[in-house]
Amino acid sequence: MKSIRTRFAPSPTGFLHLGSARTALFNWAFARHHGGTFLLRVEDTDHDRSTLESEAAVLEGLRWLGLDWDEGPFRQSERSDRHRAAIASLIASGRAYRCVCSKDSLEERKNQDLASGGNGLYDGRCRDLTLGADCGDHTVRIRLPQEGALAFDDLVFGPSGQDASQIGDAIIQRSDGTPLYNLAVVVDDIDMEITHVIRGADHHPNTPLQVAIYQALDAEPPFFAHVPLIVGESGKKLSKRRDNVSIQEFQEEGQLHEALVNWIVRLGWSHGDDEVFSLDDIARLFDLDHVGRSAARAEPAKLQWLGQHYIKGLKNDELFQRVKPFLEEIAEQPVQDSPGLSHLLDALRERSHTLMEMAEQTRWLIRDEIEYEEKAVQKHLRPVSIPLLQALRTRLESVETWDEGQLERAFEHVAEQEGGIKMGKLAQPTRVAVTGRAVSPGIYETLVAIGRERCLARLGAGLSIAEARAAAQTGS
Ligand code: GLU
Repeated sequence: MKSIRTRFAPSPTGFLHLGSARTALFNWAFARHHGGTFLLRVEDTDHDRSTLESEAAVLEGLRWLGLDWDEGPFRQSERSDRHRAAIASLIASGRAYRCVCSKDSLEERKNQDLASGGNGLYDGRCRDLTLGADCGDHTVRIRLPQEGALAFDDLVFGPSGQDASQIGDAIIQRSDGTPLYNLAVVVDDIDMEITHVIRGADHHPNTPLQVAIYQALDAEPPFFAHVPLIVGESGKKLSKRRDNVSIQEFQEEGQLHEALVNWIVRLGWSHGDDEVFSLDDIARLFDLDHVGRSAARAEPAKLQWLGQHYIKGLKNDELFQRVKPFLEEIAEQPVQDSPGLSHLLDALRERSHTLMEMAEQTRWLIRDEIEYEEKAVQKHLRPVSIPLLQALRTRLESVETWDEGQLERAFEHVAEQEGGIKMGKLAQPTRVAVTGRAVSPGIYETLVAIGRERCLARLGAGLSIAEARAAAQTGS
C-alpha cells in the first residue's frame, strides 16, 4: 500500500478559521496516525483576495496549535507552469477544448434554456469546433463524458457522485489564461501524490467534476473524505458575528492551545465516550471511521471546561511562562515571577478557564495602582474600621520580618488591643485596603505577596477612603 499523504490547502483570504483549523487537524492526525506525510499548500490563485498577511496568520495559527507539516508551504501561484502544461495536454488529447462564447452570449443562451425547461448548462457550442490557439479571446472547457456517473466513494459520506450530464463542460481556464480552482487543485494533488483529500463538506459538490478531471488526466483519484459542517451553539451555521471563529482570537483570549485542539478534534470525530485528547492521543487514535456525517456543534461551554482542565495540569513554571504575556498586558509593565505570584496563580487554577481570566484575578498584585471595588469599599471601609486600620498600620511598620508568622502575631496583638475583636473585623477592611476587593487568598499570604512597602502605602490609601466617607457622612 502506498504511503499516506495528506494536505491542508488553505486559501489565504483571512484569518485561520475554526473550520479550516479542523480540516488541518484532521489531515495532520490522519497522516500522523498512519506514519504518512502531511503537507501544506497555500491556494493563493485568487489574486484579488489572497494576501501575504493572511498566509502568515494561517501559518502562525497552525504552529500555535502544534500542527507541524512535513513538506511546504507550497504556493499554488508558483505552480502555474504545471497548470498550463496540464491544460495544454488536455487540449492536445481532445479532452478539453477552447471556447470562444462570450459572457453575454452564454448568459442569453442559458436564460433561454432555463425558460424552456432546460437545466441551463453549457450547450456545447464550441465542443466540436477544434479551435486552435489563434481563435482569439477564449476560455478552455473540459470535455465531460456525455453519460454515466462521475462517482466516488466518500470515506465519510459513502457512495457519492453525479451524472456527467448534470454537470456540463466546465471552464478550467479563464480567458486571462489562469486556471480555475477545480483544475489547479487536481493537478497539484496529482503532482504532490496526495492519497487522501480530507476537507470541508462544502467541497463535496465539487468532487464529481474533479473526478472527471482526474480521469481526463489519466490519473487515479485519491480517496475523498468530506467532513461535516460546524454549527454554532444555536445550531445555525457558524457566523463571524455570533460566534468566535478566529483561532487568533481564541489565542488572544488566553485559550490554551491544548484545549482548543481538543475541542476542535471533537467537532465531528469521536472515540467512545472519551473527551480529553492531547495531540499525541489524537495521532495515536484518529481515523476517519469515526468521523460522523451530521453537523458538528461547537459548544463554548465545552471549550471552557477543557481550558480549565488543561490549566489545572500545567506545571508552575510552564503556567507562569504562558500567563506572563497576559499579566504584562494588565500590569502594563514587565512582570517577574515571585513566590507570592506563583502561589496566587496556583490557587487560581481551580477557577480559571483561560489565561486571561486568570491574569485578571491577579490585578491587585501585579499592578501598582489598584482599583477599589465600590461594593467592597461600602461594606468594609467604614468609619468603625478607621481606628483598627490605624492601629494595624502602626504595628505593621515595626514588624521585623514580613512573613506570615510575624504578620499573624501582629494581627492578633491589634485585635487584642482593640478589645478582643473578631479577626474578620480587622482582616476584611485590611483586605479591601490592600487589594481593592473583598475576596483574596488568606490575608497573611496576601500581605506577604504584595510586600511591606506597598501594603503600608495601600493601608494609607484605604484609610483615606474610609476617612473621606466618614467626613461625608458627618457632613450630611
Ligand atoms: N483552498 C480550498 C479552500 O480553502 C481548499 C480546497 C481543497 O481542500 O480541495 O476551501
